[in-house]
Amino acid sequence: MQQLSNKVSLITGAAQGIGQATALKFAREGAIVIVCDIHQDAIDDTVKQCQALGAQAVGHVVDVTQREQVDAVVASVKAQFGRIDVLVNNAGITQDARLVKMTIEQFDRVIDVNLRGVFHCAQAVADTMIEQGQGVILNASSVVGIYGNFGQTNYAASKFGVIGFTKTWSRELGPKGIRVNAVAPGFVHTPILASVPDNVLKDMETRVPLKRLGQPGEIANVYAFLASDEASYVNGAVIEVSGGMTV
Ligand code: NAD
Repeated sequence: MQQLSNKVSLITGAAQGIGQATALKFAREGAIVIVCDIHQDAIDDTVKQCQALGAQAVGHVVDVTQREQVDAVVASVKAQFGRIDVLVNNAGITQDARLVKMTIEQFDRVIDVNLRGVFHCAQAVADTMIEQGQGVILNASSVVGIYGNFGQTNYAASKFGVIGFTKTWSRELGPKGIRVNAVAPGFVHTPILASVPDNVLKDMETRVPLKRLGQPGEIANVYAFLASDEASYVNGAVIEVSGGMTV
């Protein structure tokens, strides 16, 4: 049986990496997948891959920092499908520098995408989910959002903030039938790690009890579970998916 049959699922940053793996997993599980990202070609490619799996999928160019673009996508999805069952707030970026070197521009950009973007998307779908009396919001945090990380002042603040959103919204929206949870991946093989030197990646691998980095599909599986009715009593949780890296 498919886990997410006909669930209208809006996924941000869905054109590559963990977001794309999540779109494909949701497609395999029967969801109607709304692929949101900033690059049209990559969006089209992901939509085609979802459709090849037999799913209904549509793509939207949307920059999560731009509230009017987010509102327009939500309105379009509602007009086309009548509801929004799941939001996966996956879009995120890094712009690393030590505290003493970080520019205001680096700080602002990461907060804008990773924190304000998540706020925009959640607020944009909340009324619809409240009217429906059901919905699921899933937020991408990180182990860095629990423990901090060298060179990631801006990113760590954004990912700690996402956990704050998750706990707050789970209290506010739980009584309305909406579950809100966060996933905190460890280090996962995606383009976001492109700027991390090889020796640092090797060192990370040795620190993980499973002795390897994660694969995007291993995070997608957890999003799919949390989005499904199987997770009906999971609310306000932060699920670490790190191969045990922080044990
Ligand atoms: P990625 O860089 O491979 O993909 C991110 C996607 O987000 C890209 O397709 C990009 O175009 C999109 N995006 C960027 N800015 C956007 C914007 N303003 N509006 C809409 N889309 C935008 O990254 P990833 O590794 O797949 O990470 C996905 C999420 O998981 C991020 O929130 C990241 O912080 C989090 N995460 C990743 C790791 C990891 O090791 N890969 C670990 C912990 C948490």
